[in-house]
Amino acid sequence: SVLAEADYKPERLLQMLRAVQAQYLHIPQAAIEQLAAALHIPRTQIIAVAEFYSFLHLTPQGRYDIHISDSITDRMLGKEKLLNYLAEKLHVKVGEVRADGLVSLNNTSCTGMCDQGPAGLVNGYALTRLAPARIDVIAKLIEQQAPLSDWPPEFFAVEEPLRKPGLLLNQPFENGAAIRATFARGLTETLAEVDSSNLRGRGGAGFKTALKWRTCAQQTATPHYVICNADEGEPGTFKDRMLLDLYADQVFEGMTLCAAIIGSDQGLLYLRAEYLFLYEQLQRVLKRRRASGLLGRNILGHDGFDFDIEIRMGAGAYICGEASAQIESLEGKPGIPRVKPPNSVICGYQRKPTVVDNVETFFAATHIAIQGGSWFAEVGTAQSTGSKLLSISGDCARPGIYEYPFGTSIEEILQDCGAVDVLGVQVGGPSGTFISNRELQRRIAFEDLSTAGSFMVFNNSRNIFDIVQNFTDFFAHESCGFCTPCRVGTTLLKNQLRKIVGGNGAAVDLEELNEICLVVKNNSHCGLGDSAANPILSTLASYPELYLKQLKQSSFTPGFDLDATLAVARRMAQRDDDAAHLSQVEN
Ligand code: SF4
Repeated sequence: SVLAEADYKPERLLQMLRAVQAQYLHIPQAAIEQLAAALHIPRTQIIAVAEFYSFLHLTPQGRYDIHISDSITDRMLGKEKLLNYLAEKLHVKVGEVRADGLVSLNNTSCTGMCDQGPAGLVNGYALTRLAPARIDVIAKLIEQQAPLSDWPPEFFAVEEPLRKPGLLLNQPFENGAAIRATFARGLTETLAEVDSSNLRGRGGAGFKTALKWRTCAQQTATPHYVICNADEGEPGTFKDRMLLDLYADQVFEGMTLCAAIIGSDQGLLYLRAEYLFLYEQLQRVLKRRRASGLLGRNILGHDGFDFDIEIRMGAGAYICGEASAQIESLEGKPGIPRVKPPNSVICGYQRKPTVVDNVETFFAATHIAIQGGSWFAEVGTAQSTGSKLLSISGDCARPGIYEYPFGTSIEEILQDCGAVDVLGVQVGGPSGTFISNRELQRRIAFEDLSTAGSFMVFNNSRNIFDIVQNFTDFFAHESCGFCTPCRVGTTLLKNQLRKIVGGNGAAVDLEELNEICLVVKNNSHCGLGDSAANPILSTLASYPELYLKQLKQSSFTPGFDLDATLAVARRMAQRDDDAAHLSQVEN
């Protein structure tokens, strides 16, 4: 049935593996053999896919498979203590499956619930606002083997704290309005409106949307595809979650008008695995839109305009937020970024011209199609028109989703969200920039601080190294392993930083840290490696004195306790006097 549901299409391999795992708690060898035979692909290809994604497993997981978010904001809310408490209550070690197979417990990267953490997942479904009392109940429910449907619904409640709607979120909207406006004005004319709006991709890179759409439309190879990138994996961002939860029609409508302009009849929405809770409701929205003539054949009576959207789930890989990695994943492969050029707009999904845009970009395009380009371009700055949605979390009184005109200062945003005694702000997630409290006049804009939407606030009670270590660990964990500078370099960065922060670093180690940063930054294949050193580089620039303070006054210090390690040698030599210890080494 898994094969039939996926229509025997190898590009749906990831969906098939997800379904197999849901049934068997892992991907059994027998399933691999069957899939390989039915899809006519090598079994090694299936194993490679299963091994690539964090949420797929070749060995059985617990019937209750729990992952706790290890994002810095979850840590700030006491995640570590809660994780240990949960492990104790469930009698299972972190990273292991309990002997009776009932439960497994793991850390995971950010689950996109930073505004309502500490958060986690059970069998893929989001758990929010974890606290000791909630953990007591969860442990009981698991021991009783209660189905998730019997758990208190509030454990799974995902709130959408929309604190400050602006240009786009305040717009009234009627289903079909953007498609009607597009056809009434004309496809070329609507593309001209998108052009004059100067809309740039909201995923962070800021590529001009109209240029992407026009280039795709001009390609003679067919078919053309529209992909909505809903793999919002940057720690600290959750505004796409809110858009898909509350404004899905407007996102789907943006994909539909894009399809009309570029000449596409198939759209795909790549939904991050952590947003499984949205899957069914998004399917219902698609069904309703089909029934209303907003998707399917001859949309809204326009002869020959056929377009439909399929939702495909990710399986826990941050790198799949990168457009070409996402396309690989959608084709049923490990999400390894492609070599470019050619860009996906020329050679994308199934090697055909493809537009990949972020959820927020399609949402904005819908309103531009209705209101026109100049309406949008009047807001923001010359290079960054319109507004930006921010996901605000961390040390502030009012975490949630805010919409600002581009050009708004960090200071103003901090006032709105109730942040006081600020140490700094991480703008753009771990791959972004750390802004110290001396730079709060800086602005959200492509020409200053570009961001996909993550905005994490830290107050003066926070240790800067806790933040940098969390981000550096994140990159080491999420490196896809394709290229050496990133695969090896991110782990070297993690270890070198740990050595310095742990008080075992000398001046030479700091120099080496800087050198590794540059090697990773300048030699990696994709944006992940390019930005993996940013947390270290930006804090080294802002707080060199903090790093210097950690150093020992020696020319070299090993990254471990050398004296303790030599204890065995001292025992063998049968001497343990002062001279046999490292006190004679320069200190
Ligand atoms: Fe993979 Fe890192 Fe290389 Fe990107 S830079 S391809 S994430 S190993």
